[in-house]
Amino acid sequence: MQVGVNLQPGQNVILLAPATQVGAARAVARAAYAAGARNVRTLFNDEVIERIGLEMAPEDALGEFPKWLADGLLQEAEGNAALLSIIGGDPENLKGVPPARITAAHRGAQQALQPFTRLQMAHKVAWSLVAAPSPAWAHKVFPDLPEDEAVAKLWQAILRTSRCDGPDPVGAWHQHIKNLQARRNWLNSLGIRRLHYKSPVTDLTIELPKTHQWVASGQQRAVGYPTSPNIPTEEVFTLPERTGVNGTLRSTRNLSYSGQIIDGIEITFAMGRIVDFHAAQGEDALRQVIETDEGSHYLGEVALVPVDSPISESGILFYNTLFDENASCHLAIGAAYPTCLTDAADVHSDEDLLARGGNVSLTHMDFMIGSDDLDITAETASGAETPIFRAGRWAAPIEG
Ligand code: ZN
Ligand code: ZN
Repeated sequence: MQVGVNLQPGQNVILLAPATQVGAARAVARAAYAAGARNVRTLFNDEVIERIGLEMAPEDALGEFPKWLADGLLQEAEGNAALLSIIGGDPENLKGVPPARITAAHRGAQQALQPFTRLQMAHKVAWSLVAAPSPAWAHKVFPDLPEDEAVAKLWQAILRTSRCDGPDPVGAWHQHIKNLQARRNWLNSLGIRRLHYKSPVTDLTIELPKTHQWVASGQQRAVGYPTSPNIPTEEVFTLPERTGVNGTLRSTRNLSYSGQIIDGIEITFAMGRIVDFHAAQGEDALRQVIETDEGSHYLGEVALVPVDSPISESGILFYNTLFDENASCHLAIGAAYPTCLTDAADVHSDEDLLARGGNVSLTHMDFMIGSDDLDITAETASGAETPIFRAGRWAAPIEG
């Protein structure tokens, strides 16, 4: 409560949770009231019914998203409620459902929720994602363990990687945020013009917009106070120049997106646009993402995470982007965060964001490209070359 949405006394809380996570939702509600919440309202979603709908609803109904729900969320966000999502469903809930049907539903939801998502991406609403394991998720991560052991082990991994397993989790979190912000300050002091990613499977150049800034958790304070939208988080991130990405990459960890596994992504970029792509697994799902709209052919996020992060060192593949993206350098296809611009306050429309080099899309899909043989070198405004990552780790120690 203090570090995620950073609940302010008297604030309403909208809690979004999978139906399998009733216990965690009740615990969160209790903690929210104890921290001064006014009202906690909970929206449960049952992923089994979601799947049944995707299999059985008429084709032309898939893209319909209830207006009352989109309007309600927007109204709460505009009314300064804090939005806390518990995630942790089955990473393969939608396995076998035709990707086109998933995309139709996904796109309908993205379109209906766009006004709300805009507020979220501009951090004009306090929001945070946290995780609680469902049996299905735990089984996917630890397939050889009995269900209760798998769930217990996944809980342990979540608490450890979220820095919640020590005597003073809030203090540990604040120290962690301080370290991330020191990294951010260093990156911002360099005045980076271009990043060059080089590994045996990736050779990619990413230009950064003139008014880009690196952002770390705890800094998302457009709401007026610091929040941490993701728990855990290990990233320092910014936005790429929309048309300034060139070269090829290969993803290094598989990912679960919209209930489908995508693995072994290979992408070629020319002047920012994706001109060729493949995936060893889930290529159809990847195609659906890339073909969402024009903006989904471009990148919207560049995030740096060392291979010695606690999530990475846990050696666990979580099949959940909240965790896996924080084990590895990642990029995102789709929308950019306007808060990654120094002049974010002047961004009022898609055109404003595009004019500053930022990308606009209905979608935002993170995928991982970090590895212990990845080097990242920056070219700064003065033309100097500065090592940022060597062998998958920060090239310089933290300067507080
Ligand atoms: Zn990220
Ligand atoms: Zn992202």
